[in-house]
Amino acid sequence: MLSLDTFAIRKLAELDERGLRRSLAGTAREDGPWLLRDGRRMLSFCCNDYLNLSTHPEVIEAAIAATRRYGAGAGASRLVTGNHPLYAELEARLAALKGTEDACVFGSGYLANIGIIPTLAGKDALVLVDELAHACIWAGARLSDATVRRFRHNDVAHAEEVLVAERQRHRHALIATDGVFSMDGDLAPLSALAALARRHDAWLMSDDAHGIGVLGGGRGSVHVEKPPAEVPLQMGTLSKAVGAYGGYLCASRPVVDLIRTRARSFIYSTGLAPGTVAAAIAALNVIAREPDYCALPLTKARAFARATGLPQPASAIVPLILGDVDGTMTASRVLAEAGFLVAAIRPPTVPEGTARLRFTFTARHPDEEVARLAAMVRDRILAPIA
Ligand SMILES: *Cc1c(COP(=O)(O)O)cnc(C)c1O
Repeated sequence: MLSLDTFAIRKLAELDERGLRRSLAGTAREDGPWLLRDGRRMLSFCCNDYLNLSTHPEVIEAAIAATRRYGAGAGASRLVTGNHPLYAELEARLAALKGTEDACVFGSGYLANIGIIPTLAGKDALVLVDELAHACIWAGARLSDATVRRFRHNDVAHAEEVLVAERQRHRHALIATDGVFSMDGDLAPLSALAALARRHDAWLMSDDAHGIGVLGGGRGSVHVEKPPAEVPLQMGTLSKAVGAYGGYLCASRPVVDLIRTRARSFIYSTGLAPGTVAAAIAALNVIAREPDYCALPLTKARAFARATGLPQPASAIVPLILGDVDGTMTASRVLAEAGFLVAAIRPPTVPEGTARLRFTFTARHPDEEVARLAAMVRDRILAPIA
């Protein structure tokens, strides 16, 4: 046997032992939050398609029409021949939604973060990252030549301590955080971080993957506070509430021009398929037109939290931290038997000892099903451990 295979087998056995081996389950998504798994129809509470726009007729039609017109793939990087005419429209829509001068669309949110951070933060920069920020912010920070420091989760005073100690040794500083934290559903204190950034001449970047379409009337987490937080670098994804695929950065014109010129994950990766870009445009039209519809995921998350006695969420994500991996897996199985698909989230996605069920709510979850899920969580999961 090749030593490569021996290596993989040993590694997998080790992960198996710790309950950390992952496997893929064939999943056919149906209408809205429903899907088919192993031939069973289940109601999913673990899709990020918060507005169910991936199955919206207008979005699907737009994708089909663009595919017919421009083909199934982009054919090249955007800087070569992959910049089909739909891109300009999508970038203008994003900039308008976020209130910035310009926007730049990447192949995914992950590609956006690993492109933006190294472009803006070189050897002479300090990058401060919230300890619970998404893996791809960390990946971007590590790919950069900057000095990288973490600050305690949502702890502005701690971030300031680090800046006071280290800012003067660096020409530039970048502060990066999730706007909505993907595994906890809480919000970053963006206005306080913006004020901190101003005091220390640092550049604030927020990742609004779970905010766009859902919070602030659909405009995202920056618009939750009034007046909106001043965040010069607003990145996010088109793969969640927007129902398509891709990532973006909304920023000033010079910053976006620099990113288009220098971000390696933008330059050396093929443009998105025309159908995907058209789907995102159609979805953004729905978001701009229907703020009441955008408010539904949070309303449902709050109803669920009230019914189970969990703390009121600030986003459409409700975590139920159970701690140990086995107990969390069992709880997920109990809910699956009742037809509810709820992800068990384990380390290393979350810190050791904080394995959890993570519920995400979408606009089209039926209220009576949310109530039935809440009753099960209360009686079958929370009651036995109380
Ligand atoms: C999902 C997610 C991403 C990655 O976006 P993709 O478009 O799926 O690559 C980035 N940041 C956060 C906070 C996310 O939750």
